[in-house]
Amino acid sequence: MDKYNFISESKLIQKTHFLKSAELYPFFKEVTSPQTDVAFFGNKKVLMFGSNNYLGLNNHPDIKKAAQDAITKYGTSCTGSRFMNGTLNLHKQLENELKNFLEKEAVIVFPTGFQVNLGVIPALAGKNDCIFIDELNHASIIDGCQLSYAKRVKYKHNDPDDLLKKLELFSNDFSKNLIVTDGIFSMDGDIAQLDRIVEAGRKYNAITMVDCAHAIGVIGKNGAGTASHFGISNEIDLIGGTFSKSLASVGGFIAGDADMIEYLSHASRSFMFSASLPPASVASALAALRIMRTDSSFNQKLWENTDFAIQKMRAFGLDIGKTETPIIPIYIRNSEKTFRVAKRLFDNGVYVNPVVSPAVKDSDSLLRFSLTSAHDKEQIMFAITEVARAIKHFSKQLNGSYVHTD
Ligand SMILES: *Cc1c(COP(=O)(O)O)cnc(C)c1O
Repeated sequence: MDKYNFISESKLIQKTHFLKSAELYPFFKEVTSPQTDVAFFGNKKVLMFGSNNYLGLNNHPDIKKAAQDAITKYGTSCTGSRFMNGTLNLHKQLENELKNFLEKEAVIVFPTGFQVNLGVIPALAGKNDCIFIDELNHASIIDGCQLSYAKRVKYKHNDPDDLLKKLELFSNDFSKNLIVTDGIFSMDGDIAQLDRIVEAGRKYNAITMVDCAHAIGVIGKNGAGTASHFGISNEIDLIGGTFSKSLASVGGFIAGDADMIEYLSHASRSFMFSASLPPASVASALAALRIMRTDSSFNQKLWENTDFAIQKMRAFGLDIGKTETPIIPIYIRNSEKTFRVAKRLFDNGVYVNPVVSPAVKDSDSLLRFSLTSAHDKEQIMFAITEVARAIKHFSKQLNGSYVHTD
């Protein structure tokens, strides 16, 4: 037995080889420019509807300057964990401004948003505890739960009634209960019913945590996320998020009351045993946060674009589910067709992300179309028209192969 047989036998690799040989493989394409409303892949220019750059800040001159200045002052790395030599005054400054922004007593900054969930969830729940999670929560929440050894109970997507039922059924059997949800769901684009989730948590004395990765910059006061959107920042126990989307950088954070954050800063292994966020990333997150808090024009433009796109897509008869945010799933409902549509769109100058199994069920395969404030209506119209044409082009399926209709 060859010890590497498992690779050639893996479905993942077989699918990858199939997609590459059919010239449909869409991943790891090399970007050669900043990504704003447009991006370059070598000489090919496309409209970029596949980034999480909601406020379009990732090429903002003030933010780039802040990153450059931080490198000049602090160098390129802290070469150590926050716990030891890796805390700069700049980290503290960012944490201080974030806690005011999020209306919480304290914040700590992690190297990534993924690590927030990997570190925080196991610090809060262990083998005698139970974690209640939305069935569509982000992979980092699922992995954080697995690292915790706690019992996991999934409730139906964005369904507080089902959560209540499950709390009633299971919460008595455990010493602690924790509820974790995305603030805006990264595939379906719907907003978590956080007011009702927090109410359910209060009723059963469970700790509540929201991951606002996609919600920061998008909803809430000055973009403060889902808790702020519902006016319940004081009532939720923990607000997590990332700098890698609206905040034009990389890194993550968790906010809560002072004792809780003091505890997490000594109990989160992904915080303590990983190098701290580098100076340029801290400075750019801080500069982006300041712009976001003081200039609402980016958020306004984002929502103008979002409302426009949702309205036009519905008018075109595209299947876009229940989205109510800049994340628009365009359901194709077959993975091969999804890859074919995405490829044709790219060739025609529109970048969108195909999302297929195992990220979603095959019958839920979709194109994820994401708006930013950097787009204009003409670009959005062009893209939507191309999407509708591409879907129509591959609309007839015969025995697993597609017949062109135009
Ligand atoms: C994107 C995302 C993350 C990961 O954040 P990174 O900072 O990019 O690691 C975590 N949670 C959710 C809900 C996300 O959407």
